Amino acid sequence: MRSSRENIHISGAERLLDFDQLEEAMSEMIQRALVHPRGRAAKICLTLETVASQQVRRAPLLSLSTLQVKSWQEGRQRAVDLLIALGLERQIVENAIAQLAAGPAPQSGVMRGAMLIDATTGQRLEPDQARGVRVSRMDIEPQAQKEVRQFLPAQGLASQRITEAWVLASKVALAPQVIAELCWSDDPDYLTGYLASRQNGYQRITHLKKAGSPIGGRIFFIRSRDNLPALIDFLQNSPILFYPPEVQGV
Ligand code: AMP
Repeated sequence: MRSSRENIHISGAERLLDFDQLEEAMSEMIQRALVHPRGRAAKICLTLETVASQQVRRAPLLSLSTLQVKSWQEGRQRAVDLLIALGLERQIVENAIAQLAAGPAPQSGVMRGAMLIDATTGQRLEPDQARGVRVSRMDIEPQAQKEVRQFLPAQGLASQRITEAWVLASKVALAPQVIAELCWSDDPDYLTGYLASRQNGYQRITHLKKAGSPIGGRIFFIRSRDNLPALIDFLQNSPILFYPPEVQGV
């Protein structure tokens, strides 16, 4: 689902479901587009595509942790330090974050998908800077959905938003070319963001943006521009269902 008003992105959502779950999921998505904190959508696009079940790969979710910080400035500093520890150069990280914070789409707007940053040159690699790259065709596997829905509230975490981001980040981290992902929401009221990587898992950071800001987005730090079309194809098209990480006893 993708919703907009006057060509401005309002919200989006991606699911990978059995046929019998479709109706409920679609009406829930429409509802979400109509009551979003970024405003009411004037246009909602729903795209349904069939995926053969033999093509669907299974993988574990990343481990989940939360880093408590007191301000968005501290949160961003933590994110920069963690990215440097993953081998990225400070200047490239700070420059990418500055682009995201300023509104990474043309006219300083919000992108519909993610920025791709070449970790060696700092260059942006996404073919379209308004659209970015949208990760799609991923979900929690049906038999684990109830378990995951119960696990998050038990940790004091609201489940739907986190589940969707956790699933997205877990798919992105499966791509060997991706070093890490940094995200904060475009929802003006939602200040928690995350850093995700294969090494450190899905690390929520309690403040990554200023309260009230409608600017958010995602940055995928990529090892190099080699095999870029294959990476984009994987992120957009490869169907993956996730199961809970065993270590957390979900
Ligand atoms: P959200 O976490 O839904 O508030 O989204 C924050 C930002 O992440 C959006 O403004 C988009 O730029 C980006 N984004 C949202 N969904 C996706 C997706 N499926 N794939 C890549 N980027 C996304």
